[in-house]
This record gives sequence, C-alpha cells and structure tokens, in this order.
Amino acid sequence: MAYVSVDKMFCKGCGLCVEVCPKGIMALDMDTINAKGYHPAVCTDQDACIACMSCALMCPDVAITIER
Ligand code: SF4
Ligand code: SF4
Repeated sequence: MAYVSVDKMFCKGCGLCVEVCPKGIMALDMDTINAKGYHPAVCTDQDACIACMSCALMCPDVAITIER
C-alpha cells in the first residue's frame, strides 16, 4: 500500500496529476484554496493507489510524494 501526499503550498491546481492517474483517484479539492489561490490536488482513495508514481512524475511543481 502507498500513501500519496500533496504539498498544498506548492500545488497550482493544474490538474495534470488528475489526468494522468490510471486509478482515477486524484482530484482537485474544491473545498480548499491554498495561499496561491488554487484548489490543491488530493488523493481521494489512498488504498487504491498502486504507487505507479505517474502523478509525482507529471507534477511540474514537484508537489507530490509517494510513500511505500
Ligand atoms: S501513484 Fe499512480 S495510482 Fe497512485 S495516485 Fe499517483 S498516479 Fe494514481
Ligand atoms: S500536477 Fe502538481 S501542481 Fe498540478 S494539480 Fe497535481 S499536485 Fe497540483
């Protein structure tokens, strides 16, 4: 099992991680706005993550960390 963490301060809400996740478990948190004024990404189902790292590699701001 993996744990996906997003550094909300670095996220700019571009949605690239949402698009690339093969499990469809990344989403923009519409209930949260970070200091930059963006809705940050969040993992909606940690148990479903297969630790493929696609989201972390895609993120242009290196905001995602995958812990195995
Ligand atoms: S590591 Fe892979 S499966 Fe897990 S949230 Fe990122 S893109 Fe999705
Ligand atoms: S790819 Fe990075 S900057 Fe873009 S929404 Fe995902 S975590 Fe945020």
